[in-house]
This record gives sequence, C-alpha cells and structure tokens, in this order.
Amino acid sequence: MDPVENIKTAIRDVPDFPKPGILFKDITPLLNNARLFSSTLDILAEKAHRYEPDVIVGIESRGFIFGAALADRLNCGFVPVRKPGKLPYKTFSEEYALEYGTDTVEMHVDALKEHKRALIVDDLLATGGTALATAHLVEKGGGSVQALFFVIELEFLQGRKKLSNYTTLSLIKY
Ligand code: AMP
Repeated sequence: MDPVENIKTAIRDVPDFPKPGILFKDITPLLNNARLFSSTLDILAEKAHRYEPDVIVGIESRGFIFGAALADRLNCGFVPVRKPGKLPYKTFSEEYALEYGTDTVEMHVDALKEHKRALIVDDLLATGGTALATAHLVEKGGGSVQALFFVIELEFLQGRKKLSNYTTLSLIKY
C-alpha cells in the first residue's frame, strides 16, 4: 500500500468532539503505531529538506509532537507557539478571528533570535486561522516562513486560501 494511504488508515474519526457537529480527526492511533509514526516523519522530513529550515515552529498541542520529532530529524531547533498565558518569558501575541469570538497564540520574543528560516508544523489544517496567526508571529519575531506543513488538511474548509502568501503542504487530504 502507498505509505500515505497506510498512514491514513491510522487516523480515527470521532464524531461530535469536542462539540456537536465536529468530526474530530484523532491522530493518537497513528502516534501509537511505531512504524506509521516513523513513516509519517520520514515523509515530512524528506519534503522539508529542500526548505533548509533552521527552526521548526510547532503549534500547540499536537504540532509539538510532530514538530519536535521533525526538528530532531532535521537537526533544527524547536520553537513552541502556545495558547495565551502558557509561556513563561516575554511573548509576542497574535489574535485571530474564530467563528464566534477570537483566539490568541503566543511565542517567546527571543525564540527566533538565532533561527531565521522557520518551518511551521501542525497536525491539521482546518480554517487556517491558527496557522496564519503563527506565520505572523514568526514574522514579528524576525523569522521568515519557509513553508507550513500539516499531516492532515480538511480541504473543504479552504484554509489553504488563507495561507496563499505561503507554501503549504499536507500529507492527507479530506
Ligand atoms: P484552524 O485554525 O481552523 O485551521 O484549526 C486548526 C487547529 O484546530 C489545529 O491545531 C487542529 O489540531 C485543530 N482542529 C481543527 N479542526 C479539527 C478536527 N476536525 N480534528 C482535529 N483537530 C482539529
């Protein structure tokens, strides 16, 4: 079987989580399978090399899992982008719109001091709001966004359109 098709078999659909009407793409069965987790990282690393990143920026929280493992494979630093109030030192913030209300992501002000070429990683691209805000944070911090990588993309939500100024790559599309 094609490696990406194989990885897809380990993503579990959970209806009505965390709210009614949302079909949650649960990656824990994939993480639980050593061969498939490693194969996911092989593919991401192979595609990431050409962007020559010197830092991986992972988005809380599932972006930390893939992002940190990828950083190790690529011999890069790792920077966490987190929900408000979680990072201990001085931060840059970026607010973005949700369907109802707003949300915020934060990054340490000095996180990109020694790392300029950033590759942003998250598990899933939905509407693209979180990823776009993260790209803006990287730029605020003095970095340049080389690409955004996702394991899963929900194409019908058209998040890619919001990220049209950047290079976006996803392995599995629904
Ligand atoms: P968005 O800002 O709409 O692109 O949402 C992206 C963030 O929400 C990612 O960090 C995802 O982990 C999470 N997310 C959104 N929709 C889903 C879904 N259907 N299944 C799993 N995670 C989701």
